[in-house]
Amino acid sequence: MIEKPWLSHYPPEVPHTLDYESIPVQEYLTRAYKKFPTKIAIHFMGRDVTYKELYESSMKFANYLQSLGLQSGERVAIMLPNCPQGVIGYYGILYAGGIVVQTNPLYTEREVAYQLKDSGAKIILAMDILYPRITKVIKETNLENLIITGIKDYLPFPKNLIYPFIQKKQYGFSVKVEHRGMNHLFTEIMKVGKMDSISLPFDFNEDIALLQYTGGTTGFPKGVMLTHKNLIANASMCRAWLHECREGEESILGILPFFHVYGMTTVMIFSVMQGNRMVLLPKFDVETALKTIDKQKPTLFPGAPTMYIGILNHPDVKKYDLSSIVACLSGSAPLPAEVQEKFEKVTGGRLVEGYGLTETSPVTHANLIYSADRVKGSIGVPWPDTEATIFGPESTDPLTYGEIGEIAVKGPQVMKGYWNRQEDTDMTMRDGWLLTGDLGYMDENGFFYIVDRKKDLIIAGGYNIYPRDVEEVLYEHPAVQECVVAGVPDPYRGETVKAYIVVKEGMTATEEELNTHCRENLASFKVPRIYEFRKELPKTAIGKILRRNLIDEEREKLKQV
Ligand code: AMP
Repeated sequence: MIEKPWLSHYPPEVPHTLDYESIPVQEYLTRAYKKFPTKIAIHFMGRDVTYKELYESSMKFANYLQSLGLQSGERVAIMLPNCPQGVIGYYGILYAGGIVVQTNPLYTEREVAYQLKDSGAKIILAMDILYPRITKVIKETNLENLIITGIKDYLPFPKNLIYPFIQKKQYGFSVKVEHRGMNHLFTEIMKVGKMDSISLPFDFNEDIALLQYTGGTTGFPKGVMLTHKNLIANASMCRAWLHECREGEESILGILPFFHVYGMTTVMIFSVMQGNRMVLLPKFDVETALKTIDKQKPTLFPGAPTMYIGILNHPDVKKYDLSSIVACLSGSAPLPAEVQEKFEKVTGGRLVEGYGLTETSPVTHANLIYSADRVKGSIGVPWPDTEATIFGPESTDPLTYGEIGEIAVKGPQVMKGYWNRQEDTDMTMRDGWLLTGDLGYMDENGFFYIVDRKKDLIIAGGYNIYPRDVEEVLYEHPAVQECVVAGVPDPYRGETVKAYIVVKEGMTATEEELNTHCRENLASFKVPRIYEFRKELPKTAIGKILRRNLIDEEREKLKQV
């Protein structure tokens, strides 16, 4: 086998290896502030925040954290949708020497309590509407201080006056918190905070910037320790890969949530690193996304397939001008070839599939964005300075081209380990390689393909079936908007193939039609035996379809019989 066959596809502008400056992540903000003080760092629902304001606010927040007694290496949680306070909080925690713990605002009490307890966070920055949820579990955690903020704090007049009424209607209650005792108001901190510079000892290789709990599709949540080096490395790789991106000129659509590392690295860090503007949306809603692209003209749009699919299938997509979009990276789930082609036609920009995981900060692979050497259906080639291989079940000898095994990766973006879980860390590493838990192969040109997750393999009547094969075929049916295929329990075959389908608005599809289509395109053992039509599929916050939830639903049903 040729070692690293993918390198032959790199255009001359993309280096094979990279040098990293030994700086903390927050240094990117200090630099952007010095270079572009008056440039817009954040656009949020009609309000602009300049780099000067972002830097000064982050320093105020950092000083305030220190006045609350925060020590280097202590954890501070953020529980917010995408909004300026999330960016200020993130950089503020890092300036103060803390470790950021991103917490999903959709978490239930039980999930929040678990994450706060596990991380040992002493301070949390949270949205006002979440205050009752946090106070209910506070006794189970190490929390000593709560910093509360509201969406309205960063809305322009008169939206800031109207917003509390909208919020009350949406949630059925409103929250008033006083700046007293263990409760602190973000707006007060911005009024009274000092901006003293902070100098702390720093270890580039070892210091943790972020504790990121994994997506939740893999079972028990674990805190992934990502160091400053991990994050700087992944952002630098992104810059090398996206080499035509102009410093201070681009505008990045920030729909991917910052409480997942994918949005955090490709939007929050990358944008500040480049002195770009991020256009933030607190949640993904197709119509708002379309209107925002039309008006704010972002040039970069990292996302998940469900976002691109949602946009393409909106009945009014043609009414909006999406031509500002130049480059999009799709990750977190397979990108159907048809979606890629259509999205590129509608926007005139480039959309390529990439791959990664929380444990790798997150990106390890992507198709080359400006090159003709893109392969549809492939996650692309390893990013600069990243190695990848395919392992068999127990061995450390790489498999050969085309053989399916577990994808393993190596590089400076690979995590330091799982927080307080050495055993899990050891199980995930083999001879210095991170085992991804994803099954795939590499072709002779060095392009990688995901066949499936290890756990998602369906074994029906002794045959191995990979859901992706079946989903690709279903996506080719004109009436299928979204689908997922899962192995559900079957008394005769052990497992059987079930397809969950969302039909496109205004179209119809029957079970018979889909079955005929699958029979025409798949070996008979792969054809779904059960079809279920749904209005929507369960998804993670970043839009990944939760196949595991559907399997668990089926198991529950069987128990009740
Ligand atoms: P997370 O840790 O939440 O980022 O999830 C990482 C997982 O998402 C990977 O291990 C893959 O199973 C999946 N994933 C990411 N990108 C892709 C892709 N392009 N195709 C298929 N699965 C992907």
